[in-house]
Amino acid sequence: MTESEKMSWDLSQMVAFDDPGYIEERLTALVKAAEEFRNKHRGKIQSFGAKEVFDLYESLNELELQYEGPINYSRLMYTADMNDEIAKHLYDKFRTAYALLQQAVAFLDLELGALLVMNSELITDPILSEYKHSLEKIQRQTPHMLTELEEQLVIGKDKNGVRAWSMLQGDWLASRTFEIEIDGEMKTLPYGEIIGFYEHPDRDLRKRAHKIVYEGLGKDHIVWASALRSVFEDHLLMCKMRKWPTPMTQSFISNDVDEETIVALLNTMEKNVGVYQNYLKLKAKAMGFEKLGNWDIDAPLPNSPDKKYSWEESRELIVGAYTDFDPEVGNWIDEMYERRHIDGVVRNGKRSGAFCATWHAGQSAYILQSFNGIMGDLFTQAHELGHAMHAYLGTRAQKPNNYEIGSCIAETGSIFGELLLAEKLLRKEGTKEEKQAVLAAILDGFGGAGYQVTTRVWFESMLYEALEKGKFLDGETISNFWLKAREKMYGDSVEWLPEMKWWWTMKLHFYMANYRYYNYPYVYAQLFVYAMYRLYKEQGKEFVPKLKALLSAGSSRSPRDLAADIGFDVTTEEFWQKGIDQFSEFVKMFEETL
Ligand SMILES: [Zn+2]
Repeated sequence: MTESEKMSWDLSQMVAFDDPGYIEERLTALVKAAEEFRNKHRGKIQSFGAKEVFDLYESLNELELQYEGPINYSRLMYTADMNDEIAKHLYDKFRTAYALLQQAVAFLDLELGALLVMNSELITDPILSEYKHSLEKIQRQTPHMLTELEEQLVIGKDKNGVRAWSMLQGDWLASRTFEIEIDGEMKTLPYGEIIGFYEHPDRDLRKRAHKIVYEGLGKDHIVWASALRSVFEDHLLMCKMRKWPTPMTQSFISNDVDEETIVALLNTMEKNVGVYQNYLKLKAKAMGFEKLGNWDIDAPLPNSPDKKYSWEESRELIVGAYTDFDPEVGNWIDEMYERRHIDGVVRNGKRSGAFCATWHAGQSAYILQSFNGIMGDLFTQAHELGHAMHAYLGTRAQKPNNYEIGSCIAETGSIFGELLLAEKLLRKEGTKEEKQAVLAAILDGFGGAGYQVTTRVWFESMLYEALEKGKFLDGETISNFWLKAREKMYGDSVEWLPEMKWWWTMKLHFYMANYRYYNYPYVYAQLFVYAMYRLYKEQGKEFVPKLKALLSAGSSRSPRDLAADIGFDVTTEEFWQKGIDQFSEFVKMFEETL
């Protein structure tokens, strides 16, 4: 087998026949099966008892297991090569089938919610014990649901209303071009290309790229402000209509968390901004600068080794890191390579970034990434394989309906896996520079997903507060709020280009309807995993079954209960502080390499 074959995934394992005609036929059959499901149950759920609800869940699980293969196959094939004609065709068929499937089962939560209003005892019925938490989540949503007709109206109007803003934002950003001088030559680059220079080793180029981009984006602040204002105001209107007491309530429900927990989390971050500022000052020292510019925050250290790893070296290191944690998990990770479930080949038309898709029926997963052999690629691979560890454990213990992992828990296996790899790399004999590069990789990761994202939460809250007070949000006003949030986080640890006040124009999430406060689950995940890692360091092997049990639980329990099982109380600042303490520990190790 050639190197490139070893690095390409084999999707045929998910389907009975590896043939496009067969896949298409299955997708058509899926739509028919979903329609039959609807015709059988729609309008009848209100009279269901525990046994009928149980059977309903079972048939949903069966439906999912039966058609998961062809769905995954057509979805994944396209991400690996978006120029392939067969892949394009199948992906189009998949999208149509998927939309029809969603419409066909849309009645379910509404009718189950109505049933639970009439008969809340069902939730504690022993027949339904397996689905208890699933029902609790529906029950929590029910008071905020509108009538079926109103819901349909909202969906219909939003498509060309509030949902159109994020499309405009995306199209607008993608169609901007920027002029920049590179090696003495003027180049006109689209947004997607110029941002590639943000992490370039040449400091001056990084700085110019930031300046040119944000100067350009700021020119259209009237458009961005108009879009942002509309999306945020629409959310406040929906809060009134749906009786969500605060702008954050919707996110608590969809993330399966509570206010108490998130307040404790955010308070802890606020109390510990100094730890991050200290790291940024140390990073400046490592880079040989007086102070970091905003264009240096995510930059690589200038003397970090440009060592390249082969696919086999990467496999050996990562399998080793997981095996040190637990041999069973190590075997599963090795199986991911052995059965060719990872697509690492760099090819034209491949989707950028990386992801891991669960294959429930096969009790496994598939991973896509573009592997160039740099250290960052190793961390990405370890991250995605952490999702695979989650999938191996969860699919063995749960049916599909209990494996719908919410954002706060979804990154648990993956971030933990990154730390296992970091530990492995740090333990290997390495130069001071190598150790420094490994530590900077994880510290920058935490800085971005933990601290920088917290700044966005503060910013988002400030905007709602201002709107609720009747303030008009034009571009300059929004920028002032962003500067206020940024100042609170970074203090004097970073020098900012004046153009960076337009940072908020670029972030797509702010413009997405029904995606308010997308941000804090990232903070949650970072601190949660760092706190767990600390516990692992304290307890050693005793901790291993605890993490495995947590990942095996899928979505059958809330994040709060899952944490309680391993002795954590996520509603306290004391718990979240453990995550920061682990971050501080890594900062200390980094300082020792200077
Ligand atoms: Zn991830």
